[in-house]
Amino acid sequence: MIATTGDLEELRRQIGLWRGDGLKIGFVPTMGYLHDGHLALVRRALALADRVVVSIFVNPTQFAPHEDFERYPRDERGDLAKLEREGTHLVYLPTRETMYFPDHATWVTVEGLSEGLCGITRPHFFRGVATVVTKLFNRVQPDVAVFGEKDYQQLLVVRRLVRDLDLPIEIVGHPTVREPDGLAMSSRNAYLSAEERRIAPALFRILRETAARLARGAEAAAELEAARQALLEAGFTRVEYVELRHAETLAPLERASEGEGRLLAAVHLGGTRLIDNVPVRPDEG
Ligand code: AMP
Repeated sequence: MIATTGDLEELRRQIGLWRGDGLKIGFVPTMGYLHDGHLALVRRALALADRVVVSIFVNPTQFAPHEDFERYPRDERGDLAKLEREGTHLVYLPTRETMYFPDHATWVTVEGLSEGLCGITRPHFFRGVATVVTKLFNRVQPDVAVFGEKDYQQLLVVRRLVRDLDLPIEIVGHPTVREPDGLAMSSRNAYLSAEERRIAPALFRILRETAARLARGAEAAAELEAARQALLEAGFTRVEYVELRHAETLAPLERASEGEGRLLAAVHLGGTRLIDNVPVRPDEG
């Protein structure tokens, strides 16, 4: 496994060699502190491509000043060992300095899709994500890139920017990998206390139960309000949103029968923000 520390020339040389050999390149961007969800994406990329590049970069431009950029968990050595075991070909480890010029001024904004849900409380988040993903795509030049459905709105934002900017990259969405009790794996789960960790799986349970009722034809407004109450009763300290949206456009749906639905939520548990989402499929209700 090759580990490169952000040197763009070195990365380009290696990618150029592989491209010269006609090899297909897969890419998985991450912020590190890797868990089995990330590794599932790596395995998927290995199945889809001849060479797989994983980037680890805690991207400062997607954090607001009051958010957890400084305390975001980091474990470079552990991450490299995990990626090596999976058979990753190259790990790209840029730094803030090798990723952004001090006077960086160009941003990629995906209008509409970025504005609701997580975009309400994190107004700069998707601009930071879209910009860094575009930069990483330009650096790695992958044929295929794998993203997790865990960050469903982000997956749609990336799909849209690739379409709108004519990037020749296939975007593959991978299902959310969960702990045995249903909690979606996340680097931020490391923030949870023992008591919070006990409460956390209720998010998936309540989403799944609500999705089943919506799939059977229940009206969204009442079900979403009931879900909000159930989340608070389960012990979450704040419910940022629970929404039924169209799975591709993220337009609000009043009933699941109006189109392919996705139920998405963001909640707070003490100082930790958790997100999750599930499909709503009327035929499976
Ligand atoms: P992050 O390191 O949190 O930025 O995530 C990097 C990639 O891993 C993103 O495409 C995430 O959607 C994906 N990811 C994170 N957690 C999971 C999970 N539990 N299951 C599947 N994919 C995930």
